[in-house]
Amino acid sequence: MTNLTIRTLAMRITNEGDAYAYLESLRWPEKPVCPHCGVMNDHYFLTPANGTDRVTRTGSISERRVWKCKDCRKQFSVLTGTIFHGSKVPLQTWLFVFFEMCSNKNGIAAREIARKYGVAPKTAWFMTQRIREAMANDGLGKLSGNIVMDETYLGGKPENWHANDPRRAKKGHSTNKMAAIALISGDTGEIRTKVVTNVTGTVVQDMLRMNVTMSDSTLHTDSAPLYRTVSKEMAAHHVVNHHAGQYVTEFSDGTNKVENFFSQLKRSIDGTHHCVSKIHLERYLSEFAFRHSTHDLTDTERMTLLMSQTPGRRLSYRPLTLG
Ligand SMILES: [Zn+2]
Repeated sequence: MTNLTIRTLAMRITNEGDAYAYLESLRWPEKPVCPHCGVMNDHYFLTPANGTDRVTRTGSISERRVWKCKDCRKQFSVLTGTIFHGSKVPLQTWLFVFFEMCSNKNGIAAREIARKYGVAPKTAWFMTQRIREAMANDGLGKLSGNIVMDETYLGGKPENWHANDPRRAKKGHSTNKMAAIALISGDTGEIRTKVVTNVTGTVVQDMLRMNVTMSDSTLHTDSAPLYRTVSKEMAAHHVVNHHAGQYVTEFSDGTNKVENFFSQLKRSIDGTHHCVSKIHLERYLSEFAFRHSTHDLTDTERMTLLMSQTPGRRLSYRPLTLG
């Protein structure tokens, strides 16, 4: 597949039918897979009878491509069970937003999506949050080898806020700092992230055990005492002492890789998204971690990979607003 650009995507997807067919090619590169029973087969493609058009409940013509499973006999479309399911936004628009979020290094703000694609701001925000949910890095495989780990604090200090900052008016809002921990494979660049209220030895230990094959891995950190206990489960632990001005040693490249990730994240939140609530920070981290982990891929490959992560990650509006 040639690498996509907004221009080639626009040439390829000129209507809803094209959008469905394109999503099918991404989700089912070989044959359609029934989302109900998981069987891959030459399922029946349902063309409307008598050459008529399929109409929706409101009477407008539907370009939705519907399949029927040869095994369980249930109907499905390429949207079934994905983050796109049940949305009123045209699939064409979804795919463009999906592409932008996969290819823009700093992400794209919801208000810019709203302006560019003519959707309501609330809808744009919901779309971006759904796509971020697909980018979540929980439940992915374990990392091994050189593991670089660090933590950071986000959210900013109230004393640094501009005199006119609206957050000043809201008492008790956004004043709590948030912590994020990240670990990154020094070998592949794959990253795992987590937002926590407090960074403790136990938090660090849980994060490592969940994401890393401990006995096969070497941990690289700064000299924070947090890592001392858990590092005993690992093959080795190399420390750089930042207080002593030490950033690399003969054993370790230090924690630069994670620090660079955090500084890009912070710049982007300040520049693109301005203020991120604690509730949604986890999703922003996922978005950045996803693009960082896949930096070797082309935009098309990244989009295909993300598409493969969308089934089962359907997110409805309610848990989002409740956060
Ligand atoms: Zn089936």
